[in-house]
Amino acid sequence: MVRRIAILGSTGSIGANALRVIEGLGEGYSVFALSAHSKVELLAEQVRTFRPKVVAITDASCRRRLVELLGDPDVEILSGPESLVALAKLDEVDTVLTAIVGAAGLPAVLAAAKKGKRLAIANKEPLVIAGELLMAEAARSGSEILPVDSEHSAIFQAMQAGKQAEVARIILTASGGPFRELSAEEIRGVTLEQALAHPTWDMGPKISIDSATMMNKALEIIEASWLFDVPVEKIEVLIHPESIVHSLVEFVDASVIAQLGEPDMCLPIQYALTYPDRLPGPAKAPQLAEIGSLNFSRPDPEAFRALPLAYEVSRTCGTAAVVFNAANEAAVEEFLAGRIKFVNILELVEDCLNKHDVKTGVSLEELLEADEWARRQVAALACSA
Ligand code: NAD
Ligand code: MG
Repeated sequence: MVRRIAILGSTGSIGANALRVIEGLGEGYSVFALSAHSKVELLAEQVRTFRPKVVAITDASCRRRLVELLGDPDVEILSGPESLVALAKLDEVDTVLTAIVGAAGLPAVLAAAKKGKRLAIANKEPLVIAGELLMAEAARSGSEILPVDSEHSAIFQAMQAGKQAEVARIILTASGGPFRELSAEEIRGVTLEQALAHPTWDMGPKISIDSATMMNKALEIIEASWLFDVPVEKIEVLIHPESIVHSLVEFVDASVIAQLGEPDMCLPIQYALTYPDRLPGPAKAPQLAEIGSLNFSRPDPEAFRALPLAYEVSRTCGTAAVVFNAANEAAVEEFLAGRIKFVNILELVEDCLNKHDVKTGVSLEELLEADEWARRQVAALACSA
């Protein structure tokens, strides 16, 4: 049986690595559909190499250019944001790899889960904002949700050493980003260039900034809580600057199981595609004697406000997580555009959470309303920051 894969966000960092992995996997895996937002040239090049049957360009203004570049009547071209949902639902596709950045991937992730597809999920934001809905859809349809985020892939692999009810604690590791050794005071002076320079991982701009604020880890706490049905009180974050131990699971008998690997997304991407099998691939095993030592320490909650906020948000439930995520997305955009300072990101997120009237037991529409409210708040607050 050939696994037919749709990659949503094929022109990003995860998408490009996924194509490398699939190329190496050989005949059992084929690329059926690809999507990109606006990188038309790169998408056209990927189409020529991988010969998908369907492609989607979510920025509809780029469609004409894509048609010109491809000039191939055998490839169906879809456009606009809703085209992602169409890709996620294609009957011929059995695995949907979601590598979109931010909340934009939510409708497609839900559509794939509803249709019972295997979801190889890199796009953590939908799990954070609609984890309850998504896990319920997947349980109803039998959709398998396989994490691509390296920490969650590690937890998923470690979980296989015991039963869910035997889990005592999850230990999420964090590289700590470029500012892990700075105090709250020192972080006030950092620049955009310093924030984008991640010490161990090569990633897209949004997640690189999220790593610098440790918002990435904050979102991952909530992501892990939904994926593994574990309350946040049982999830601990440890800084591990070498990024070799990708996370650990402690069981009730005090045994701790870890997954180790080089900081290379190819391995978690591949495992989500090939599970339950393991196949040779582009990743290299870590050479422990050369690495020499592995270090672990607790993060400073004063310097990295995102972490204590994540625990609060998760306990509050309802619309708190959607506001946490949307305010951060909007604030990171402001920072990337040079309109606010690095420290303003978390100040805006916290301000937004304080102003928000949390609603619980909400529908998808209400979640999306809260998302828009948070983005408007940040835009207004950013002007005065
Ligand atoms: P990236 O910025 O490199 O790529 C994002 C992709 O999404 C691109 O293909 C782009 O065309 C598409 N896209 C952007 N905006 C869009 C929109 N509005 N509508 C539709 N498509 C849009 O990002 P990335 O680093 O590959 O990260 C993708 C996701 O994977 C994120 O959710 C991130 O948190 C997660 N993730 C990334 C890494 C990593 O190593 N890069 C690791 C773990 C998790
Ligand atoms: Mg991660």
